[in-house]
Amino acid sequence: MSVLVYIENWNGKFKKSTCELVSYGKRLANGLGGSLTLLSIGRVAEDELKNLGAYGAGKILSAETDAPLDDKAYASLIASAAQNSGATLVVMAHNVTGKALAPRVAVRLNAGLVSAVNGLPVSYQPFVVNRKAFSGKSLMQAEITSDIKVITLSQNTAGIEPFAGNAAVETMDASAVTSGISVLSTEVQTGKILLSEADVVVSGGRGMRSADNWKPLEELAGVLGAATACSRPVSDEGWRPHHEHVGQTGKVVAPNLYFALGISGAIQHLAGISSSKVIVAVNKDPEAPIFSAADYGIVGDLQTVLPKMTEAFRKLKA
Ligand code: FAD
Repeated sequence: MSVLVYIENWNGKFKKSTCELVSYGKRLANGLGGSLTLLSIGRVAEDELKNLGAYGAGKILSAETDAPLDDKAYASLIASAAQNSGATLVVMAHNVTGKALAPRVAVRLNAGLVSAVNGLPVSYQPFVVNRKAFSGKSLMQAEITSDIKVITLSQNTAGIEPFAGNAAVETMDASAVTSGISVLSTEVQTGKILLSEADVVVSGGRGMRSADNWKPLEELAGVLGAATACSRPVSDEGWRPHHEHVGQTGKVVAPNLYFALGISGAIQHLAGISSSKVIVAVNKDPEAPIFSAADYGIVGDLQTVLPKMTEAFRKLKA
């Protein structure tokens, strides 16, 4: 059984999650006794593609196009690549893109789909995977019985295993794909760390009390080179922009380090942060549920704790 992994790029560069996805695809292919093919869509330099050899990429299909593609066009290219490479397992990241494309690809391939898969399969024959359920509160096992299978992998659940090897890049013709959109203008935000790609995220909740109190949080984020985020009520109140809202109805983040400042730890918030490697919580209520999810907790008032933390990190970085 061969594996096709769709690797998403951002302005020609691969995302942090790509190495994990490629290494995961290689381990799946080994487990299934098949080969691994990667599919890249858009314009990516050959060196950038070949670097993925270190994570197990063997063959990379590069569908080079400058056309602004919609989800239908992406799904059609992924399904064609799966059919042409003989892949019976298609893998994507469980992010905004993967969530939008995987069902479309599954329909095109008449495949069974399991999303938010947690790590490597429980068994290959039959094909059984763990997936997150109830906003990440529990894991369920699911068997995909169809011949063709599509899965999306939750970030930071499989880890990265390096593989020695060289990647061979082949061009895939994307000229026949039609798209229903044209881009009128693009606005690039400079100087901001992309929340979904950040290694460190400093996030504030209602415990920050008002929009005016965000300066100390931004200061800490500045010292750590972190992206800023917030809980949903904070963006609902208009204290922070909606694109910073993390959780079940917001962004899903998977940084190495997540600071939850004045966030109670509701299940809907945890759904967006459960793939973080280390969670640090600051809350004045020792019974706050966030402490059950956190690796490190500080019980205290943010007004005193936050400036001290910032100072301590500033000294460490000096
Ligand atoms: P609160 O629950 O009010 O918690 C504030 C915390 O700050 C408390 O624990 C308090 O002890 C602490 N605190 C107060 N003052 C201080 C201080 N001075 N120093 C230190 N600590 C202090 N929420 C999300 O975040 N993301 C989502 O995607 C999301 N989706 C939802 C979807 C649905 C369908 C529903 C019903 C809810 C959703 N929610 C979501 C809301 C969620 O249920 C919680 O209400 C929300 O996460 C709480 O936000 P919070 O922790 O900032 O505020």
